[in-house]
Amino acid sequence: MHGEYVLSRYLIASDIVSPAHHPDPSRLLFASRTGKSLLVKERIYRSLLAGEFDRIDQATLLQLRADEVLVPPTSDEFLDLLEKNQRGIRETHTLSLTLQPTANCQLGCGYCGQQHVKKNLDEDTSARIVARIMDTLRRKSYIRLAINWYGGEPILALKQIEDISGQLIEQCGPAGVHFFASMVTNGLSFKPDVYLRLQRQRVNSFQITLDGIGHIHDLMRPVKAGGGSFDIILQNLVDVTGMPEFSANRSGVTSHNPHQYQPPQPGQGCRSDRPAGRSGAGGAQCGAGFSPGGGLGRQPGRPRQPGGGGLRRAGNRLDGACDPAGF
Ligand code: SF4
Repeated sequence: MHGEYVLSRYLIASDIVSPAHHPDPSRLLFASRTGKSLLVKERIYRSLLAGEFDRIDQATLLQLRADEVLVPPTSDEFLDLLEKNQRGIRETHTLSLTLQPTANCQLGCGYCGQQHVKKNLDEDTSARIVARIMDTLRRKSYIRLAINWYGGEPILALKQIEDISGQLIEQCGPAGVHFFASMVTNGLSFKPDVYLRLQRQRVNSFQITLDGIGHIHDLMRPVKAGGGSFDIILQNLVDVTGMPEFSANRSGVTSHNPHQYQPPQPGQGCRSDRPAGRSGAGGAQCGAGFSPGGGLGRQPGRPRQPGGGGLRRAGNRLDGACDPAGF
């Protein structure tokens, strides 16, 4: 390892986060090259700073390399990253866009920061959005279009989503562009019939945030009309993930893997990392990112992180070869 890797200059370390007098304290590292957060033992951090990588166990070293805490030596890390970013922009073939079809939401989360109004996309604006997307797809050599439906609460504009998706599906096919979509939803209206309608519009990945369990979530994410949202959301998840259409869509269920498709039970479906794009006000915020054939609490295709001897995953984010700037 010596000479093969150096500590990235794009690393941010917190103070020690363990209680005073902890026998083996830890601190948080944020690898800004990859957006990964890691909880590391102080002894590991000290070894990193001293360049004594031989003192770190192999599993932890592998993770530190994967998260680009440790990087190959270079004469100028900044120029290296710049070139990597420029290459990524040149080589991407996916146009990735986030659309907000409504300014309305049924919840009143304490940290929201939005002022909701009962306003959905009108027909003229929708047509302009579709025209602009198709024009952008034509101007560069895109082969994929990825739409992320966001809000407010996007399900409140289901009709608009269907209208826009229908136009995009109709036009993307002849243009040789593969269209798919995802959604960030509060889950309150995520009923089986809504899921089926979204599935027809190729929305096949969903992010739903749970701010803890039961009343803790309800404190953070109350329904504006009154009452909590946790039980409703959880029941919706149980109902949707129990549908044959959910597990049958693009995944094989056999006698060898039925355990993968069990609906979540109360107390499940919550993970310790935060979904991308959500800015909770701290506390025990959890996110369930899931899609047909995946599993609650883990992004599809993303392996579970191996636990190094002195290191634990403290956060995560979505990433991918997309080009939001291309629009
Ligand atoms: S669900 Fe999202 S948009 Fe609605 S109040 Fe909560 S944070 Fe705001």
